[in-house]
Amino acid sequence: MEIKNHERLHADDRNLCKLAISELEDIYSDLGLSEEELDLLDMPRRSFTVHFPVRMDSGKIRMFVGHRVQYNDARGPAKGGIRFHPELTLDHVKDLSFLMALKCAVVNIPFGGSKGGVVVNPKELSRNELEQVTRGYIRAIANHIGPFKDIPAPDVYTDEKIMVWILDEYERINGEHIPSVVTGKPIELGGSKARSYSTSLGGIYVLEEAMRRMDMDKFEVSIAIQGFGNVGENAARILHEKGYKVVAVSDSKGGIINKEGLDIEAVMKHKTQTGSVVDFEGSQNITNEQLLTCECDILIPAALSDQLNSNNAHDVKAKVVLELANAPTTKEADNIFFEKNIMLIPDVLANAGGVVVSYFEWSQNLNNDYWEEDKVLERLKKTMITAFNDVYSHCDEKNCRMRRSAYQLAIRRILHAERLRGNL
Ligand code: GLU
Repeated sequence: MEIKNHERLHADDRNLCKLAISELEDIYSDLGLSEEELDLLDMPRRSFTVHFPVRMDSGKIRMFVGHRVQYNDARGPAKGGIRFHPELTLDHVKDLSFLMALKCAVVNIPFGGSKGGVVVNPKELSRNELEQVTRGYIRAIANHIGPFKDIPAPDVYTDEKIMVWILDEYERINGEHIPSVVTGKPIELGGSKARSYSTSLGGIYVLEEAMRRMDMDKFEVSIAIQGFGNVGENAARILHEKGYKVVAVSDSKGGIINKEGLDIEAVMKHKTQTGSVVDFEGSQNITNEQLLTCECDILIPAALSDQLNSNNAHDVKAKVVLELANAPTTKEADNIFFEKNIMLIPDVLANAGGVVVSYFEWSQNLNNDYWEEDKVLERLKKTMITAFNDVYSHCDEKNCRMRRSAYQLAIRRILHAERLRGNL
């Protein structure tokens, strides 16, 4: 099985939780929450651990551990990915499920938040074992998921193929077709058009709205992107196609820069041929560190966590930072950007395009009515721009701390739903 950036993604998410939780203290106090509200937010609604047997290729039975946490479902069924990782813990899944609840609330889609996974290193499994682990986990949690309970999706180390096994196992148990039980499926089995690049495009829609607000001219700005995996590469490709000047990109081996702009299509070919963007003809090699502080107007971290920190934040020249990665900015760097008047578009908003198109997929499945790509894009754009404006209008005039504003907005929305239900 081919797996990309496994360790890195996991590290990203760990930091994301740390960051989210350290921010939360301030946010709760800014919001002046009551004891009851704090209690309600402090505990996941349902969290469980399952143990299930799998017959390995050797013929021996091995027991596996899986978790699933439905943090909050006041606004709709719980929604969130399933990851396979050897160090997965229930606490970590709890944090991630809380962040999913915030993300869905920020973009105002009718879902709560969940997350789950199996404690396993999928690199050590054969394809057959991977399938049996997936099916075993789904059998163990089948009573707790469903289109109106909790809807899984891909996450770290899980992909379209695994979503199909989830779908198939769930449908076997229930004896009928239920495509809306899982998202991130292949188009042939009820997946949505544009899901594969929805995270990048969703971020770009938000960026364009931010630029409009800041009177930045599309043809005058230069953009640097850290990371050339699925999200970074799609972002670079789409921006280039739209006519933006992308001056620097990088991958784990290093980066390249050309002040006049890079031909991203040619960079993609070069990466396919050589395995890296480094040494691309007509560009200068730089380090990842240099990319982050290079001369540019827009900086898009789309790779690792913790990249923008107290060591380099003072040297960042961009006016806008768009967090396509999870938690690329530490709390210290966040404060420095605020002082330097750099607009930071936080991950819970910037990279929510994926779950937004998951919502469209679920909706198409329930209605058995499949949308053209144009319709998906139009709805994605509308959802992302509305979310940006909701977050932005929450900020006070000149002092816009968008991360704080996004969390506040999400928490207010969740608490409002709880209040309407009579839970507060
Ligand atoms: N795992 C992705 C996320 O964390 C997608 C979740 C989904 O589509 O439900 O945003």
